Amino acid sequence: MTDFNSKRIPPVSDSQSNKKNFGTDFSGDDDFIDSSEAAGFNMWGALQTVFSVAIVMATLFTMWNPSNLFSNQILDRMFRSSAINATLPTEIPLTPTPSPKPRIGIVAGHWGNDSGAVCQDGYTEVELNQKIASLVRDDLVNEGYEVDLLQEKDERLFEYAALALVSIHNDSCDYINNDASGFKVAAAMSSVYPEKSSRLLACLTDRYGSITNMKFHAGTVTKDMTNYHTFSEIHADTTAAIIETGFMNLDRQILTEHTDLVARGISQGVLCFIRNEDLNIKPTQDILP
Ligand SMILES: [Zn+2]
Repeated sequence: MTDFNSKRIPPVSDSQSNKKNFGTDFSGDDDFIDSSEAAGFNMWGALQTVFSVAIVMATLFTMWNPSNLFSNQILDRMFRSSAINATLPTEIPLTPTPSPKPRIGIVAGHWGNDSGAVCQDGYTEVELNQKIASLVRDDLVNEGYEVDLLQEKDERLFEYAALALVSIHNDSCDYINNDASGFKVAAAMSSVYPEKSSRLLACLTDRYGSITNMKFHAGTVTKDMTNYHTFSEIHADTTAAIIETGFMNLDRQILTEHTDLVARGISQGVLCFIRNEDLNIKPTQDILP
């Protein structure tokens, strides 16, 4: 008997000692067998578990093969979410795109077509019209509008859409009589909004007259003005007018030496119309020297 056994075996009666000792030896063997059997059982169980897991995994992999797992739907969703995540920060613009500016059309009379009225010294109406129109454009651009500087028969005039369109002309350079002085305005009354045309006419007349101190030469508003060809070309919603800023003979000084005032008279008239200004409140006036 080993110390090992003696330690484990509690003291017993003599009658039972042999049997017990014998039994103990067996039981010791049994214990060993049991434990080895248990270990074998456990190993087997573990193997079983491993095999079961392997089978399940194999089944899962067969079921969820890459084409299945990453089906189009799932891929789409993944790409979409990653796309959203990737693009969200850049979708917020650092500087917001400005909304399109309101548009105004300015026609430099006769430009691109003919010279218009011609003075004896060769000075032409088209030169004067262009100079005035350019200054009007600058004024309105400074006020924050998109301005188209248009030729007499500009192809853009067909169905032209804008808040307003003003065609700039000047009257004869010949001496007619002492009354041949002043400006004239005619609006396109064929417009679908005749009240707007009347309003543009009133604004141009008031602002141009008060800024230039020129008088309205009502008597010589011709059919050429009221039936101005451009009026029938542009979009029906565009409010349009034609202005003869003066007679190139008697009004030549103000037209050529104070062209900025002439231009401001027109731009203020357009602004009065667009901004629906009170006609009784005059814009800041410049005193002529
Ligand atoms: Zn003309």
